[in-house]
Order: sequence, then structure tokens, then C-alpha cells
Amino acid sequence: MHLDLATILILHPLSLVVGAGCFLYLRWYSRRSRGLGKMAIGFLVLAAGSVLAGEGIQGHIDYATWTFLSFVSGPVSYALFWLGLLTLVTERPAGRGWWIVVLPVVLSGLALATGFHLDNLYRSSIFLSVMAGFALASAWLVARDPQGERLQSRYGLASALVFKALIAVITIASIVAPAVMGFGAAESFLVLILCQFAIAMFVVILVLERAEKRLIALTETDSLTGIRNRHWMMDRLPRQMPAGSAFLVIDIDHFKRVNDLHGHAAGDLVLKAVAQAMAETLGAQALFARMGGEEFGLLLPKASEIEAIASGELLRQTVEALAITFDGVAIPVTLSAGVAVARGEMSLTRLIGRADEALYVAKRGGRNRVCSFGDGGENMDQGDASGRRAASGDVVSLGVAGA
Ligand code: GH3
Ligand code: MG
Ligand code: MG
Repeated sequence: MHLDLATILILHPLSLVVGAGCFLYLRWYSRRSRGLGKMAIGFLVLAAGSVLAGEGIQGHIDYATWTFLSFVSGPVSYALFWLGLLTLVTERPAGRGWWIVVLPVVLSGLALATGFHLDNLYRSSIFLSVMAGFALASAWLVARDPQGERLQSRYGLASALVFKALIAVITIASIVAPAVMGFGAAESFLVLILCQFAIAMFVVILVLERAEKRLIALTETDSLTGIRNRHWMMDRLPRQMPAGSAFLVIDIDHFKRVNDLHGHAAGDLVLKAVAQAMAETLGAQALFARMGGEEFGLLLPKASEIEAIASGELLRQTVEALAITFDGVAIPVTLSAGVAVARGEMSLTRLIGRADEALYVAKRGGRNRVCSFGDGGENMDQGDASGRRAASGDVVSLGVAGA
């Protein structure tokens, strides 16, 4: 295959301009994504350096000038790209990352002092070494995932950057030992153009993947309490629950009174405190959500009735022990919970319905307690903190009626 170097040298800056265009469009479109502007400028600086080199080779620009400027465009461009990536990945201002500009400044100074840029071999190999170093540093930045976001596109972007570093190293080798490597300038530039495209593409994908993930998280999170919402819960539960699934419906007692006595803001504060205390007690893996109003749902995928009641009881005690104050006034809070365990396969609606009925019994029995819907007439209930017990007769009749 014959690659036309002149054509490829035109394509190189153009590919960088297209990449910069993508970053600028994304910056305009997704205002929350910071760092893209610096990345775009980085690409444009490299494109300018590439054009200067092209013009210089054709003798349109003084040799010392174009070799110096096209050399300097590399470190300046890579430093800007790295800074932009740092901001994009960490979502914080570059801050101390700005020290990186020392590198292009030092390299420019060295070039002026020693004139190494006048020598093709020195200029190319130092330029490519800087390219490889920055590509690896950028890959490291992306791969280490400081936000813990687990975006798949990070791997794509990091791979493209590592590949770019590899190409730079191979190109250095082919400049130093052309007979051994047989990798010409045209081949190098062509692969670099493809790398540039891949990098720009993965940056775009990363920004979009991040936005999509956040949007999904937003639709699954309750805005007041910060815990998962009904939508998240229902999305995860199969319509048919296997035997051994337990569902708990948890409801704050006399919550309307909190609103009436202390105001809606106090009600919100109580909801938040109760939701967060329960979520903390259950842990991040729990299938727990605010189902609506002051009602919460908890699914235990495999639990006996005793275990399910114990979970409800743990939550009841946790919430009872909370010391919530609003404007210096203490607001005591308790909850009631209804438990239902599927003995055989059962529809989700029916299981939740049974837990609801058990909750109703807990409410009628005096609140601040956990009641279970015993299937087939086998019932259990749990006393409250003061040792009182819910009326088991009610639960028995529910069990028979609902079986
Ligand atoms: P019970 O013990 O029988 O559950 O009585 P309750 O007062 O807790 O139940 P009820 O259903 O009568 O009242 C629930 C109240 O919860 C009514 C509604 O205004 C309030 N509520 C629902 N969502 C919110 C919310 O997001 N913030 C606040 N402050 N109140 C809410
Ligand atoms: Mg209530
Ligand atoms: Mg309610």
C-alpha cells in the first residue's frame, strides 16, 4: 500500500480541527462538563503546529522559526489537553495541576538555549517522547477513576491514549533505526490521525455516558430524602416473586401530626432523618426505597418470617431511638411495619398487598410495632418496645382471608 505523505500531512491538522470542534460543541451543549475548552485549544495548537511544519517543509517559512514553533506546539498542546482532561475527569478546577505548564516552558527554553530543534533527529525524537509521556499520563488520569464512576468509556479513552504512546515510541524507533522498523512517517501520521479521532470520540462518549448515568440516577433517587424511590424499586423486582421473598411496608406513625404541629419543613426534616437512618442501618445493597409519602418498602429476597420481622424490628428501634429536633423542639418519631413472606411463588402485587394488610393491623393495634401477614393461618407478630403485642387475632383472620 502506498501512502501519500502530502495528503496525510493535510489530513493531520484537519483531524485535529474536527476533534477540537467536537470538544467545543460538547462544551456548549453540556455546560457542566468543564475542561473541554482547554482540550479543544490543545488540539488547535497542535493543528497550527502541524500546518506550520507543512509550510516550513515546503520552504515557505524560515527554518529556525518553523522548527521551533512546530516543536513547541507539541508540549503546549499536550499540557493543555492533560489539564483539560484533569478537570473533566475530576470535575474540579485544575488547581495545582497547572504546574504542568512548567514543562513546555522548560522545553522551549532548552530549545532556544541549545538549538536542538534545528536537528531533525533530536527535534522529532524529543517531540515524540513528550507525546508518549503525556499520552501515558493522560491515560493514567482517565483509568484511575477518582470519582468512582465506573464509566466504560474510560477504558476506551485510556486504551486510545496508550496506543498513541505506543505509536510515538515505534516512530522514535523507526527514526533512529529505519532499516529495522520499516515504519515510515506517512504510516505514523495515519495511525496518529486515527488515534486522535478515537481520543475525541471517547471523550464525547465519556461525557454522554456520564450524563446518562446521572440522569438515570436522578430518576431513581428520591429528591427529598436522597434514598432510592419507588421507580427504582419496582424496576428491580420481578412481577412474580419466588418463594421465600419477604416484603416490608414501613410507615411513619401519625406523620400528619408532625406537619400539623411543627409545619411542613419539620415534616420534611423528619422524613429525611428517618429515611437516612433506615438506609444506613440496612446498608447500600438493601432493596429499600421510599415508596411515596411517608411510606417505605424493603424487599428481603430470601428471608424467613422471623428474619423479616427482625429486620422490621431493627428499623423500628432505630427510628424510635432517633433524637430529631426542629427549631430546638424535640419531635419523637415511631413507625409501624407490615411484613409478608411468600411461601410459594406469588405476584409482587399480592405480596405487597399482604404486607399492606399487615401494616394496617399494626396501625390498628396501636402503632410503633411490626406485624406479619401469616400465610395459611400461621401468624406472628411482634411486641413494641413497651412489651405490648399486636392483636394476633386480626392477623389470623387476614391470613385466612388472603390465602
Ligand atoms: P398513620 O399513623 O395512620 O400512618 O397516620 P399518618 O398521619 O402518618 O398518615 P396519613 O396518611 O394520614 O398522613 C400522611 C401525611 O404525610 C399526609 C401528607 O401531607 C404527609 N406527607 C406526605 N409526603 C410528605 C412530604 O414529602 N413532606 C411532608 N412534610 N409531608 C408529607
Ligand atoms: Mg403514616
Ligand atoms: Mg402512609
